[in-house]
Amino acid sequence: MSFKNSIMISPDHPRYESLMLRARMVEAYKAGILADSGLIAHGRGEAFDYLIGEKTTETARKATHAGAAALSLAEYPVISVNGNTAALVPHEIVALADKLNAKLEINLFYRTPTRVNLIEKALRYAGAKEVLGTEREEPAYINGLKGPRSRASKEGIYQADVVLVPLEDGDRAEALMAGGKKVVTIDLNPLSRTAKTASITIIDNLVRALPNLLSEVEKLKKMDRNQLQKMLKDFDNEKNLQNSLEIVARAYTGEMEL
Ligand code: ATP
Ligand code: MG
Repeated sequence: MSFKNSIMISPDHPRYESLMLRARMVEAYKAGILADSGLIAHGRGEAFDYLIGEKTTETARKATHAGAAALSLAEYPVISVNGNTAALVPHEIVALADKLNAKLEINLFYRTPTRVNLIEKALRYAGAKEVLGTEREEPAYINGLKGPRSRASKEGIYQADVVLVPLEDGDRAEALMAGGKKVVTIDLNPLSRTAKTASITIIDNLVRALPNLLSEVEKLKKMDRNQLQKMLKDFDNEKNLQNSLEIVARAYTGEMEL
């Protein structure tokens, strides 16, 4: 992928990082990895990122810690990949799957065979040896969902006990939870259905959350299962979401303190 747009953005620009991310999304859209609605989803994310100061908050750190513990404890962890994730953090997502011995599965809201193939290529280019959720597979279906959104890989999400869904649609997050799976999500909007439904919600940008998750998983390798379980028991997702909302509200009143 080339980043022709980014060449025109000067590093001195006060919105440099945000503009660079936009340029990456536009390139991913042009390359066919991202659906047009993926660009809109990114815009919604940007708005919430603005409100949390475009930084990883202490609240997000706690959720990342708990998310890393849940994924480390999983018997059958699966990482779901959509267009936004493939566009922004392909290397990190592959590295995380390697570290956790987790499966990578492509799941798209607007699924087309071409986009699935392009995302598979991007993941393989980033080093993935196995990619599930492709067109070659005979899919399984998740109860409680209709149409293409019910699709899951037989060797992936269908069997998973813990699923990391960086950006998920609310209906699907609800169906995964109803199916008894633990859902770890990364979503900048603390008010989305996904954020409210998941077991562990990391309110942070994918581009910060993924590197943080990677280093957390590495740190937790030194801990035994009991310590990890205690860590999970001590984490309260509802309280954590409430804290994130308070951070957003303080930004609005100009009293932000992260
Ligand atoms: P839900 O279906 O869960 O109710 P929604 O319909 O409001 O959510 P979707 O369009 O399904 O939203 O998903 C987009 C979500 O992804 C938004 O909540 C947005 O905040 C979030 N998002 C977009 N880009 C990023 C990013 N880079 N990092 C983290 N979250 C992001
Ligand atoms: Mg949605």
